[in-house]
Amino acid sequence: MRTGQTHLFIPGPTNVPEAVRQAMNVPQQDMRASDFGSLTLGLFSDLKRVFKTATGEVMLFPGSGTSAWEAAITNTLNPGDKVLMARYGQFSTLWVKMAEMLGLEPIVVDLPWGASAPVGEFERILGRDVHDEIKAVFVTHNETATGVVSDVAAVRRALDSTFHDALLFVDGVSSIGSMDFRMDDWGVDLAVTGSQKGMMMPAGLGILGVSQKALEASKTATMRRAYYDFADMRAFNADGYFPYTPPTPLLHGLRASLDRIFAEGLEAVFARHARLAEGIRRGVKAWGLELVAEHHSYCSNTVSAIRVPEGVDACEVLRIAYDDLNASFGSGLGRLNGKVFRIGHLGDFNEGMALTALSLAELSLMRAGAAVVPGSGVGAAQAWFAGDIEYRQPFA
Ligand code: PLP
Repeated sequence: MRTGQTHLFIPGPTNVPEAVRQAMNVPQQDMRASDFGSLTLGLFSDLKRVFKTATGEVMLFPGSGTSAWEAAITNTLNPGDKVLMARYGQFSTLWVKMAEMLGLEPIVVDLPWGASAPVGEFERILGRDVHDEIKAVFVTHNETATGVVSDVAAVRRALDSTFHDALLFVDGVSSIGSMDFRMDDWGVDLAVTGSQKGMMMPAGLGILGVSQKALEASKTATMRRAYYDFADMRAFNADGYFPYTPPTPLLHGLRASLDRIFAEGLEAVFARHARLAEGIRRGVKAWGLELVAEHHSYCSNTVSAIRVPEGVDACEVLRIAYDDLNASFGSGLGRLNGKVFRIGHLGDFNEGMALTALSLAELSLMRAGAAVVPGSGVGAAQAWFAGDIEYRQPFA
């Protein structure tokens, strides 16, 4: 029997605040009723504040982040289009796979897992593409598998400096709502997220920011689509309705989660994530372990991927944490399986949770045979949390 609290330290789904959980406990309601639209219209305008777009639109699809990826691609591109992508972790790899499955022709830059988006290489490739054959560039803003942030603004500059017209697609599934994301400033055309990470909700909503340029492209794009068709969605969304049955409890939960984000302040949410992430990183360093991120300047503020020492099996660390200590950490995905475990530090997260995560990870590592000094990670994080040292956002 499991006693006491179960701890969820995975990078999504994240912990759902009690107020959000309560807000979802609503009777089923008429999604065509005259007063239903005001709920949805309020969500759209507040989500635009989170995406930092004044000119774009936001859409909500029943589904998860992956559904929003598919909606983004199928509504704006044509079969056989060339698209520029990079693989530097499991999610950027899956995005390439989806592009291939949907009939695009990806030009793929392969990088070590732990690298960030290859801005220089993208710029070279775009510069050579004088006939604008490349129709879109894809960036995974926060590679959840490796804990690496990429510089989306720099990719926009690469597009601009080469006078390239390609659409800019950004996967912000594990960044939007937790780390600064500026859809308009960065010229992002399709920004994708899901409800179960920074939005502190269960999975169930694919959330998409769409620029005017992407909306224009959707009018002529010929890729096959049905459920995720923008035109249908927009026609109903104009008054706050959906073309099919929406998951109404999730919409109420999203209302409560957005209220929490704005009560704390969007910038304060980002600063909290930065402070907590730095505490986790200091703990990892004190253990003498390495992050997967190749460089400290692009460590993620929402998830840390930690390499276990030689001779220690990361799967065993995860098993001990889950079976013996009631704690879930993220596994090493794809080629990182067995070598890495991840601490998710996003959403409804605080110092106590960060210290508990470090403490339980430390204990699991020790039981799995790693030579970490008891209390070293927790102590380093406490020292950081006790101080008042400014921390810089990546690429700020
Ligand atoms: N992209 C990133 C960066 C992710 O972290 C995830 C999920 O963890 C996805 C895409 C896929 O999203 P979902 O599982 O919501 O479909």
